[in-house]
Amino acid sequence: MVQCSPLVSSFKKRWVQLAGHAGNFQAGDGGKLLKKYCECERQCLEKLMGDSLRPFVPGYYGVVRRDEQDYNVMDDLLADFDSPSIMDCKMGSRTYLEEELVKARERPRLRKDMYEKMVAVEPGAPSAEERAQQAVLKPRYMQWRETLSSTATLGFRIEGIKKADGTCNTNFKKTKHREQVMQALKDFVGGNTQILKNYLQRLEELRAELEKSEFFRTHEVVGSSLLFVHDGSERARVWMIDFGKTVPLPPPLTLDHRTPWVEGNREDGYLWGLDNLIDILSAMLPA
Ligand code: ATP
Ligand code: MG
Ligand code: MG
Repeated sequence: MVQCSPLVSSFKKRWVQLAGHAGNFQAGDGGKLLKKYCECERQCLEKLMGDSLRPFVPGYYGVVRRDEQDYNVMDDLLADFDSPSIMDCKMGSRTYLEEELVKARERPRLRKDMYEKMVAVEPGAPSAEERAQQAVLKPRYMQWRETLSSTATLGFRIEGIKKADGTCNTNFKKTKHREQVMQALKDFVGGNTQILKNYLQRLEELRAELEKSEFFRTHEVVGSSLLFVHDGSERARVWMIDFGKTVPLPPPLTLDHRTPWVEGNREDGYLWGLDNLIDILSAMLPA
């Protein structure tokens, strides 16, 4: 995994990627970005173009083929900014789909590699039984991993931050507590209260729209991020990105995105996480 990779493009000096595999993106023409094709993401972006969430997602322009590879074409959200600072915040109280958990259970295998990753990070995490086996099952590993960051406790986690001065940090895997998140956010905005206020306003608008959105009500939204972008002009915007794991629910099932997840209810904790994020940003503003 290569992170914070700048991509030289014809229209703008550089576009920056904070998560995902470096080879998944290419610069397009005229402020567009190409992301390696994913059918699930195409369907979501198409539906979102006709949903009330339209102002909160990159514009979508269909599929193009380049060097035998298909790409989804979307707006480069950085194109209108001058030396932007950007942050990727992965939303929700879990980052795997229910169907991934089911699949991981189908052929239960004891995983030594996952056990080793677990003890390397948190020596006390394995149970007595897991210690005896020196191995864990994959579903257990998936669930444990979510407890390291703020995903399980706050319903979102910071994936990466790149600031205008060029510094880049993708090491937030153990940023878990409210105070740690606050510190990271404060550093991201460089202590600028106006930028914080602008982000807060945009997030409140997004929340109001999410609560009304037909698309949002009828999809399990997992592994999707909010992309925060601001620059020296104090303009601060937020968009929803990454719909590779956003799947339609079988009708008439709908989600409120706040009810705690129990396996089978498909709840993803997205709005609960957004409530927490808004609460944290509000607490950072002087009274
Ligand atoms: P993963 O699933 O591991 O998060 P991915 O391959 O699905 O990765 P995305 O999460 O969609 O990729 O995007 C990775 C990064 O690329 C984002 O964190 C952001 O920095 C950048 N990015 C994605 N979409 C856009 C966009 N429309 N405009 C500007 N930057 C973008
Ligand atoms: Mg992502
Ligand atoms: Mg993704």
